[in-house]
Amino acid sequence: FPTVTVLDIPFVKTTADELLKVLKQRIVDQQNTFVVTANPEIAMYAHDHPDYRDLIHTADFITPDGVGILDGAKILKQPLPERITGFDTLEALLNWASDNHRSAYFVGAKPVVIAQLKRVLDVQFPGLVIAGMHDGYFEDDAEIIADIADKQPDMVFAALGFPKQERFINAHRHTTKGLWMGVGGSFDVLAG
Ligand code: UDP
Repeated sequence: FPTVTVLDIPFVKTTADELLKVLKQRIVDQQNTFVVTANPEIAMYAHDHPDYRDLIHTADFITPDGVGILDGAKILKQPLPERITGFDTLEALLNWASDNHRSAYFVGAKPVVIAQLKRVLDVQFPGLVIAGMHDGYFEDDAEIIADIADKQPDMVFAALGFPKQERFINAHRHTTKGLWMGVGGSFDVLAG
């Protein structure tokens, strides 16, 4: 996709539907993918933290997750078509996974949320293969990453908040051939 740079971050100039098509195809093709859905908070943080900005720049797709980003693009006279949120992208991928018996691994949120999330996923996305789940309060990545590498899920969703989730993904994304995406507080929302 062409990109539009706002606050030093290159955002994909595309619609959610077009992006989803590409993400699904990459999963089918077993192409390693890192998606960042960047809201203005993330963009500002990246602006002030060069190491985080560099890390974000290694993502394959950075989407505008906030009207503030769209406004910035408009001011630059390079408008972006629409907002693409982490939550909507997560939900769309889970629906697709459910229809196609694809697998996902969930890392993040509090233990009680993860337990509730499991129940919600089983009902809402019955065809989804849950490769594994772990809460987001751990000291050492090693055990979780060994499990992810062993299960080889199609998708890994990290709900650790930023910048933690992107650092986690950047460090470990190459342990699978699938998609990795930070989803902020989405597990809490899904779990209800
Ligand atoms: N979280 C976590 N581990 C941490 C810190 C946060 O799993 O060490 C989880 C938290 O429980 C919540 C999610 O990260 O489910 C997102 O947190 P927050 O809303 O603060 O982040 P944002 O959505 O602003 O990125």
